[in-house]
Amino acid sequence: MSQPAAAVSPEITRLTHYVNGEHVAGSSGRFGDIFNPSLGVKSSEVPLASRGEVEAAIAAAERAFPSWAATSVLQRSRIMARYVQLLYKHQEELAELVSKQHGKVFEDAMGSVLRGIEVCEFACGAPHAQKGEFSDNVARGIDIYSMRKPLGVVAGITPFNFPAMIPLWMAGMALITGNTVVMKPSEKDPSCPLRLAELFVEAGAPVGVFNVVNGDKEAVDTLLEDSRIKAVSFVGSTPIAKYVYATATANGKRCQAMGGAKNHMLILPDANLEDVANALMGAAYGSAGERCMAISVGVCIGDEVADRLIEILKPRVEALRIGPSLDRGLEMGPLVTGEHREKVLNYIQMVVDGRDFVCEGHESGFFLGGSLVDQVKPEMQSYQDEIFGPVLQIMRVGSFDEAAALATDHPYGNGTSIFTRNGAAARTFADKVEVGMVGINVPIPVPLAFHSFGGWKSSAFGDHNQYGMEGLRFYTRVKTVTSRWTDDGLEAEFMMPVLK
Ligand code: NAD
Repeated sequence: MSQPAAAVSPEITRLTHYVNGEHVAGSSGRFGDIFNPSLGVKSSEVPLASRGEVEAAIAAAERAFPSWAATSVLQRSRIMARYVQLLYKHQEELAELVSKQHGKVFEDAMGSVLRGIEVCEFACGAPHAQKGEFSDNVARGIDIYSMRKPLGVVAGITPFNFPAMIPLWMAGMALITGNTVVMKPSEKDPSCPLRLAELFVEAGAPVGVFNVVNGDKEAVDTLLEDSRIKAVSFVGSTPIAKYVYATATANGKRCQAMGGAKNHMLILPDANLEDVANALMGAAYGSAGERCMAISVGVCIGDEVADRLIEILKPRVEALRIGPSLDRGLEMGPLVTGEHREKVLNYIQMVVDGRDFVCEGHESGFFLGGSLVDQVKPEMQSYQDEIFGPVLQIMRVGSFDEAAALATDHPYGNGTSIFTRNGAAARTFADKVEVGMVGINVPIPVPLAFHSFGGWKSSAFGDHNQYGMEGLRFYTRVKTVTSRWTDDGLEAEFMMPVLK
């Protein structure tokens, strides 16, 4: 079998693409750097595909499509079930690949792989979920039935922060419904998605059904422009999500494009502040804040709540267990790249200052300590923007209505949360807030695989959420057949046909 990576030097490997069941070396002559964020050193090179290389992957997926689409849904489901078993078997290996290139700590990476596997488990139920509808004898001898047909070759374009989970959200639903896939993962951590495609073939899928091309804007633009690509699923930052949505739809493709986030947690005066602090520690600093569902703003109703909460949080943020991502028992690893670390640094002024954190033995790693910022105001740039780092901003407001309005009025609308013992306030908030995913006494309300994931406003563009029945609908189109089987003859009719 072809090799997933070749050595450039004893320390640096060169990754490949994965097309038609083969690892293919890059031929564009362009490469991106991948880092070990715990050490702050380059670990690999990723080939950045040319237009021609992406077109070759699309061609492989197009060749594989007719036979995969014609494979019975039961057979596809059995392959998916074997894939699920393989994903569990290799869960630690996949989590290590995530940890090594992304920097999130191993236990967190294991959880993120599991959330991807759960979508594939849901996908195994497609023989039931993909069933069409049937209306018997709508007129004499006439039945109507509808089918959900695959679209063809579909593209997935994924961000750096979930290199296992998000490719599996897309591939799980696209493949089970009979589409073939060209995945373009983040160029910052592509080793895990390459392995995911390889394992699908190991599970018994035909080659060419799940392909991975590595690359940057050139690869993305090729996918957006090629008429053989029927749908594009994108997850990443809002400016790129907007661009991808506009370009894909202008080129006649179906598109779902998820963007950035700024997630508020409302903290009401009756909330248990120990529980709130526990929830905030994980939700704000887990994965070094590089989660689109991270809570980055705690909105306290009343100064007393804010003062008491900060008193509990301050020593805990100062004592965060931070270290190299593959070490066990840690709470936070480094940020993904030095460049991203610089961006986050520029936003911070605070109660707990994590800017000068140094990880002993890993002085060049891309680490930051946790930071806690008080007295944040809506007009501040750092509040308007997504920071995407281990920074929790505290805002102080006078009333529930003012707090709820912050979440509704912010341009992003991915997730939000409310901590309270007041059921009526929680219910009103969940009902009225203009945000796609709401937690009640739950800090990170990422819906399970049999529901679906999607934000509102600048956090998502397009009509369908990711995974669940929404994902199934995104990756299929409905064909409706009206059939007449009767021995009675037909008469010519010149008015609009109506069934009698
Ligand atoms: P990004 O937008 O920089 O990159 C995402 C993908 O787009 C990558 O594959 C990248 O190669 C490609 N890309 C980057 N620049 C491009 C350009 N100019 N033209 C075409 N393609 C381009 O995002 P990121 O930094 O990898 O990921 C972090 C972002 O993703 C955050 O904003 C985070 O909130 C968001 N995110 C959102 C969700 C969600 O479901 N809403 C989930 C995870 C991450």
